[in-house]
Amino acid sequence: MSAAIVLFTRDLRVHDNPALDAACASAEHVVPLFVLDDELLRRFGAPNRVAFLLEALRDLDGSLRARGGGLIVRRGDVVAETVRCARETDARVVFLAEDVSSYSSRREQGLTQAGLDVRVSPGVAVVPPGRIVPSGGGDHFSVFTAYWNRWRAEARRLVLKPPTLLRLPRALEPGSARELEELPEARTSSTLPPGGEAEGRRRLSFWLESGLGRYSESRDDLAADATSRLSPYLHFGCVSPLEVVESAAARAGSEEFVRQLCWRDFNHQLVAARPEIVRQDLRPRGDRWRDAEMDLIAWKEGRTGYPLVDAGMRQLLEEGFMHNRARLVTASFLTKHLYLDWRLGADHFASLLVDGDLANNTVNWQWVAGTGADTRPNRMFNPTRQALRYDPSGVYVRRYVSELADIDGGAVHEPWRLGMLRPAAYPEPIVDHEEAVLRFRTARGVSRL
Ligand SMILES: Cc1cc2nc3c(=O)[nH]c(=O)nc-3n(C[C@H](O)[C@H](O)[C@H](O)COP(=O)(O)OP(=O)(O)OC[C@H]3O[C@@H](n4cnc5c(N)ncnc54)[C@H](O)[C@@H]3O)c2cc1C
Repeated sequence: MSAAIVLFTRDLRVHDNPALDAACASAEHVVPLFVLDDELLRRFGAPNRVAFLLEALRDLDGSLRARGGGLIVRRGDVVAETVRCARETDARVVFLAEDVSSYSSRREQGLTQAGLDVRVSPGVAVVPPGRIVPSGGGDHFSVFTAYWNRWRAEARRLVLKPPTLLRLPRALEPGSARELEELPEARTSSTLPPGGEAEGRRRLSFWLESGLGRYSESRDDLAADATSRLSPYLHFGCVSPLEVVESAAARAGSEEFVRQLCWRDFNHQLVAARPEIVRQDLRPRGDRWRDAEMDLIAWKEGRTGYPLVDAGMRQLLEEGFMHNRARLVTASFLTKHLYLDWRLGADHFASLLVDGDLANNTVNWQWVAGTGADTRPNRMFNPTRQALRYDPSGVYVRRYVSELADIDGGAVHEPWRLGMLRPAAYPEPIVDHEEAVLRFRTARGVSRL
């Protein structure tokens, strides 16, 4: 085969990239292509993620150039642009990483219908979605523990080395990355992590040396911020999930961390099998969600009067990131205390999160809302108890809620108890906790949570 296209999607790396590896092994000339798809940018392209993506593409371009190639960037419809590129380079085969969304299925179908030979490689998950299925029948798992037991015993492919040399077809010159310069980079949040494989690998090494050992005891400590922060690098494939798991698993005490990567795979296999659940309830509970625009706005702006909820929502606005414990509490507050539709929350998260990921975001939202895979669908997180437990000295709340910055210790979590010392600028709770519990119980028709 003389020329093959490797269509990068969200596998923006040269290390352990099975699609790139297969293209290099099968063809003399390789066309590393990325298409900035207008439909995708319009529908899912939150400015924070676009900023990260552009940096990741520039970094990938540099890595490919160092190997004699370069990234070919096109803008427009992904199928039309890939077909055009195939014509220009006389390539008939397209290698790309498998993915789970209905958009990615349409992309594969479109390329095939256009007459291209499409070869799909693993790489987005550790264990490819659909590889392990329940022994009792069915094509996917909907209970995590059963999946985890099978996943951890599954044989994994070897981590691949990056290619040493790439040859572009003569018709192509590297340096067509002009499109990257033309895309507006209107990031919403002020502090964002730098995108790209080089930075992702640097963070991974640092994490393995300095963070992993403390993960199981510190992962819920909001103030310590002691998680890997690898999520955007995993979302865009700047680091390989398999390489992350293999390098962590080689170290003692890594099980809890590896388990989180299994949650990621679990969510992906669920969406691969049931793509409609990114909008529809996995397990409908008969909810008739409230319509309360002012409550939604207060939640989005971090002005609910519950300090931990507000700190989480303001972290999201400022950093395009939120600690996992705060994601759980803020999502529970929206869906259960305010009884607003999880889709509203998922959309808001997706519009700001740098790691915003269709499978991880929607499946986690459904889990919290009790319409998903949680075995206790009616549990409610008490935001004050969560705060006293996971931010006992109030450091996390004071970091993000400036109105409360002068309140010492855990007292910051209950401003309503401060009497005269209560800062006037900080809002009253928009809903009473006990009333919210009663409303939710009534709506779900349950006596106990
Ligand atoms: C309502 C809600 C929405 C979420 N939306 C997203 C999202 O859009 N994108 C996203 O990547 N994660 C999402 N998560 C999961 C989790 O909060 C983030 O992955 C995590 O906070 C990222 O920080 P980290 O990389 O430091 O995680 P670490 O704790 O260091 O975990 C390592 C990796 O494991 C994966 N992981 C961790 N927790 C989960 C989880 N609960 N489900 C699936 N994978 C997990 C992530 O890839 C993460 O980078 C969401 C969680 C909730 C409750």
